[in-house]
This record gives sequence, C-alpha cells and structure tokens, in this order.
Amino acid sequence: MIKSNLHTHTTLSDGRNTVAENVEAALGAGFVSLGISDHSYVEGDTGTVGKDAEERYVGAIRTEAERYAGRIDVFAGLEFDRFSPCRRELYDYVIGSVHLIDCGGRLCQIDWGHEFVKWVTDEFFGGDVLKLCEEYFRTLAEHVKENRPDIVGHFDVIALSSGVDEDDPRYIEMATGCAAEIMKWCTRFEVNTGAMGRGDRDKPYPFRPVLEEIKKRGGTVIPSSDCHDAFNINFGFDEVEKLLRSVGFTSVDRLTKDGFVSDPI
Ligand SMILES: [Zn+2]
Ligand SMILES: [Zn+2]
Repeated sequence: MIKSNLHTHTTLSDGRNTVAENVEAALGAGFVSLGISDHSYVEGDTGTVGKDAEERYVGAIRTEAERYAGRIDVFAGLEFDRFSPCRRELYDYVIGSVHLIDCGGRLCQIDWGHEFVKWVTDEFFGGDVLKLCEEYFRTLAEHVKENRPDIVGHFDVIALSSGVDEDDPRYIEMATGCAAEIMKWCTRFEVNTGAMGRGDRDKPYPFRPVLEEIKKRGGTVIPSSDCHDAFNINFGFDEVEKLLRSVGFTSVDRLTKDGFVSDPI
C-alpha cells in the first residue's frame, strides 16, 4: 500500500503535535503525502479551529507544505462537522464527520465517553440506544447530502460511546441502510483506525457489514489513522489492508496534486 494519511489532527485543533512534527513522523514512516484535517469550528469547543480562523489555519499548513515540497506532499484539509462553518474553497479536501447531534435544540457531543452518551440516550431518546443511533445516522446522511464532502469520516463512530450491540440485526440494517443512502452523494469512505490507536476498539470504522455494503455498491475506501498523536500516524494500516482484501477490495484511494487516484492493494 502506498503510504499516506489524510486524517491528522495537530496543535491547530486538539492534536498533541505540530504540523511539522506530523510531517516528520510521516516522512519517517515512508509516506508520500500527508493531509492535515483539524476539527472545524464548533462554538464552545476549544479543541477546534477557532472562529473565523480558517484562513490562518490553512496558511499555517501551506507554510509547512512549501518547506517540505519535493520531499512529501502536504495537503490542507478539514474535518468538517455537521454543525460547523466551512470555507470549502480554501481546502484541498474535506472529511465530513458528525460529532454532535441536535437534541431538541441542544447540541450534544456523541464521542464524549460512555457516561455522557448514556445520559444523552436516557434524557433525549427514552433510554433507547437504537433511537440515538438513528438520529446519528440521520444527521450524517443529511450532512453528506447537503455538503458533499470528499470523504465520509468515521462512519459508525456512534458505536463506541453508545455501547450499541453491533451484532443486533436492527443496528446492522440501520448502518448499512445509511451507507447505501449516503452513497448517492459521496462514495468514498475512510477506514479509520483512530479508536484502535487509542486502545478503545479492536476494529476500524466502518465495521465489516458496512464495508461489505460499500464494496457491493461500488464505493471506494481510504485508510486513515485519525491520529491526535504523531506516534500513531499509520496505526493499524497493515491490519486495515488485510481486512479490506478479505472484504474483496482490490484498491484504496489516495489524494495527489491531481486529485484522487486509486492504488492497487
Ligand atoms: Zn472526528
Ligand atoms: Zn478526527
């Protein structure tokens, strides 16, 4: 697999390392390119690119891209949340993700740990975790439809904090149904090892039934580490490659200066 990662967080949002430190880690790991994709601005969340700071944010990435030109391609991206502004024209690509859902006018974070998400489930969804998941997937589909991101971010991240039974046929149907719906507007999904790198999960997002659905419908995949620490820049990529092959994928997508290309695996 030609090495690259488009889902990288830096000190420009909630990552531990600077852009340059991540680029150095990528060079050390033999990457041909690296994309920075910090969190889009969310009101009240200090771990996001600041309000009206998108130009400054992209400028900081472009400076490093120039410094490393000829050694590695550095792209400026954004992890674009449903409830964020995004000046699309500034970026080389955007990853469409959902971290918040609208609970009767109050935005609730769905990746703030088990306890908080349990509270959200009890308070707003009558304790029914499937209803919570439904709202998450509805929000994701709406986001992708309205904003047409280049990549769908951590498709089923709701599984982690909600504690939903991923073997429950109703959940599988909901998730695969959402994937099928989303593919009307975006057919490229990241295969995200972020939670694996943090030791919270033993498989990437999306889980296998969704990967199979993407394959069946002719979608494409792109491995990503969603790293918040440069140490994890290519965490689990070998495992992902094996998994993708076992599902039947024969290629993965990669961003180049001329747009996305497909590399055989
Ligand atoms: Zn995210
Ligand atoms: Zn992320």
